[in-house]
Amino acid sequence: MPSHAREGLPYCADPDWPPYETVDPQGRHVGIAADLLELVAARSGIDLTLVPTVTWQDSLQAARDGRCQALSFLNSSPARSQWLVFTDPLFADPNVILTREESPDIADLTKVGDKVLALPEGTSIEEWVRRDFPNLRVVTTKDEETALAMVSNRQADLTLRSMTVAVHAIKRRGWFNLKVAGRVEGYDNLLRMGLRPERAALLPALNQGIAAISADERVEIANRHTGVTIRTGIDPAVVRNVGAVLAVVLLTSLFWGVKLRAVNAQLRRQSRTDSLTGLGNRAFINERMGLEQARARRMARPLSVILLDVDHFKQVNDRFGHLAGDRVLKDIAAILSHAARQTDCVGRWGGEEFLLLCPDTHLDQAVILAERIRAAMSCHGFATGCRHSASFGITLLRAEDDEQSLLARADRALYRAKENGRDRIETD
Ligand code: GH3
Ligand code: MG
Ligand code: MG
Repeated sequence: MPSHAREGLPYCADPDWPPYETVDPQGRHVGIAADLLELVAARSGIDLTLVPTVTWQDSLQAARDGRCQALSFLNSSPARSQWLVFTDPLFADPNVILTREESPDIADLTKVGDKVLALPEGTSIEEWVRRDFPNLRVVTTKDEETALAMVSNRQADLTLRSMTVAVHAIKRRGWFNLKVAGRVEGYDNLLRMGLRPERAALLPALNQGIAAISADERVEIANRHTGVTIRTGIDPAVVRNVGAVLAVVLLTSLFWGVKLRAVNAQLRRQSRTDSLTGLGNRAFINERMGLEQARARRMARPLSVILLDVDHFKQVNDRFGHLAGDRVLKDIAAILSHAARQTDCVGRWGGEEFLLLCPDTHLDQAVILAERIRAAMSCHGFATGCRHSASFGITLLRAEDDEQSLLARADRALYRAKENGRDRIETD
């Protein structure tokens, strides 16, 4: 073989491990691992080609019987070291504790008492946890997503998963009542390529290629695939410096502290956002309602609530279909946002009901705002080609009110607006 010829290394991947790696319908390797391997190939001069498989088990078998020469992205373990040799880590990902949003952060798992920990069965983490945290009651699940779902549904208190994979699953499945409550030191995934021993001669070149990937490149690749943008706020020079010492630098505590906060802030924002309209959802409104009531009382300022319900909306769906109905709701959300003041809080209360919380606003001013919204809706060119109206119930915070009584009055006024013919405003 001429000395300038590039070496080739056929490898297998896990076809179903997003966002680390998957195989797309065209048979291409995609994800964090794929992007990293592309850099490694370019910088090591070794051609890495995917041998497509259907399952991870299939990939393992292919590597065992020589249909491929390497595996793309896996933790090393004593068992795996019996038949594979490993490169330096391509990527580091801490295992983190995931709990529900209302639970306190966890610095030390030995101190949380006898909580129920959900874990996918047969993982290396399970062995470690049973050894290190005998205080936890482990329940095993058939897969990763079930473990997260159990925590979200209150069937378990916590789970312990890779940060990257967990955040991806949470976002995809919408389990936004979960948060990252802490990182378990020493429980980190160090993901490497694993080669059949007869290809061990390629290790130095591959490791050189891996070392040539900068910390910035790794962060950028991870951000791209998790959809969570992390600005580390760490001086890039420091990152580069650490990077020079250890090729995989994603594990500095400083970095993960920043990342943790950013991830939780994003999850929190999404847990309070209505995905159709982009407005705040009911959880968001409830949160603001408490704050604004307290503030109005403390400052002795008025606080008005406008509750509105789209008229005959069921007919819109029936006539034009659900998608057209959605479009109308989005337009109304935009009209509300546009009409409200910066300090007002606009949210989707549910279905075709919206709520505006207007601090520093007397009842008559709130009526003027509702009138403006009614007028804007009446001349808006909805995609259905029809006019769509809403009924409004308005009320003002009273000294004796709690959140329920305030909303009950707005609801009563709204009911009267419907009774009295719709497309109108009533106060209580
Ligand atoms: P009324 O004037 O008395 O309020 O009549 P209505 O038809 O608006 O009232 P009803 O509560 O009977 O129907 C509300 C409809 O809103 C039924 C439901 O299918 C629809 N709806 C709720 N949420 C959505 C949504 O997100 N998208 C769409 N397209 N329709 C929704
Ligand atoms: Mg309704
Ligand atoms: Mg309605």
